[in-house]
Amino acid sequence: MQYFSTRGDGPVSLDDALQKGIADDGGLFLPQQLPTFEPTDFDNADSIPQVAAVLLRPFFVGSVLADELEEILAETFSFPIPSTPLPSAGRELELLELYHGPTAAFKDVGAGFLAACLSRLESDEDSPLTILVATSGDTGGAVAAAFDARPGMRVVVLFPEGRVSDRQAHQLCCWSDNVVSLKVQGSFDDCQAMVKAAMADPDLSAVHRFSSANSINIGRLLPQSTYYADSSLRHYRRTGNKPGFIIPTGNLGNAFACIMAREMGLPIGPVILATNANRTIADYFETLKWLPRASLQTLASAMDVGDPSNMERLRKLVGEADVLREQLGVLSVSDAEIETSIRQDYSEFGFATCPHTATATHTWRHLDDKVASAHDWILVGTAHPAKFETIVEPIIGEIVPLPPELAEILARPAHAVTIKPDLKSLATAIGDA
Ligand SMILES: *Cc1c(COP(=O)(O)O)cnc(C)c1O
Repeated sequence: MQYFSTRGDGPVSLDDALQKGIADDGGLFLPQQLPTFEPTDFDNADSIPQVAAVLLRPFFVGSVLADELEEILAETFSFPIPSTPLPSAGRELELLELYHGPTAAFKDVGAGFLAACLSRLESDEDSPLTILVATSGDTGGAVAAAFDARPGMRVVVLFPEGRVSDRQAHQLCCWSDNVVSLKVQGSFDDCQAMVKAAMADPDLSAVHRFSSANSINIGRLLPQSTYYADSSLRHYRRTGNKPGFIIPTGNLGNAFACIMAREMGLPIGPVILATNANRTIADYFETLKWLPRASLQTLASAMDVGDPSNMERLRKLVGEADVLREQLGVLSVSDAEIETSIRQDYSEFGFATCPHTATATHTWRHLDDKVASAHDWILVGTAHPAKFETIVEPIIGEIVPLPPELAEILARPAHAVTIKPDLKSLATAIGDA
């Protein structure tokens, strides 16, 4: 399989697309053509790694990793991804729990797969690959966990001082020596600007081999499409119905993977995007004008995105707003609605949801009656509520028990270096000679 940039560059191999992350022309990589499947193609696959092997095989044709796909998938899916039935007065309802990985958010799947791939493409211990990640919370932890202690790979995480939760900060700073955690005296935008400046700096690039692991890497999208394949197939085999999915959405990586799975022929019904108060996508579908803007801070902070980068992929794959809005729903959910939703989830479902997941449960409760009763629904749970306990616990008036994977991480010692928000401080911190 060959890959092309959304802006035209290419073709490149999967291996190059994984290593580059972003295309030279600034676009995002997409496969030349999506393979298509019938549900029966998966008849002999009844676990996520097995479904993933069938689904991803065509993407790996011609890659040096082709023979290692099964091994890569076994490493990626080292934790369960269950769907739990939820009580509902109407059609069947499930919660797809994507938060049982090492850092308790769905980003563990993409980060784990990317690390498994890159560590097999890279084995030069004398000149390690340095993965730079600017994070507003969840991404940096998932990437650090996935690359922790891998030989020949180094991770530098930059996060804004005082703007991530204490538990998120701990997850960014508790890893082996190959992970450097930098607390930046600035904003997330400063962190991102420093990463860009470092990658563009010829002197620094001569010393370090830089790469990035942010959510635009195709290596994060491919494995995400496999849990939509697996959960839709399980539902379809059991009921004969194609379930609809409601997906908490920020940069559109998770939802794009679901749409990709539907395009490939998986039994998936309607796809509805639940966003927070950042209305860029909702306004696009309404006005047909794409107007990216600065992000607003909300309770669902991992979705605080005003310029969702994967929209460029979606427009290339499916079409512009007039076409997109026929195929996708979107609802923008306010902070007040998120709070109400967390309270309602706790009383109706008997467990707490994180602020991101609560945008999906809110959206489900506010579906048009006709739409709601025409489909079974799978709500996508993107993070464990214990990760956002300072928001969730006061709302439900209870302590959220720590899942074992989070407890294990929080028990580790953590350390970070505090730096100023400029390139020189970053260079000094990572060794500029
Ligand atoms: C990153 C994140 C999202 C948003 O996912 P996108 O792929 O950026 O749309 C939602 N919920 C949680 C918990 C996240 O960490």
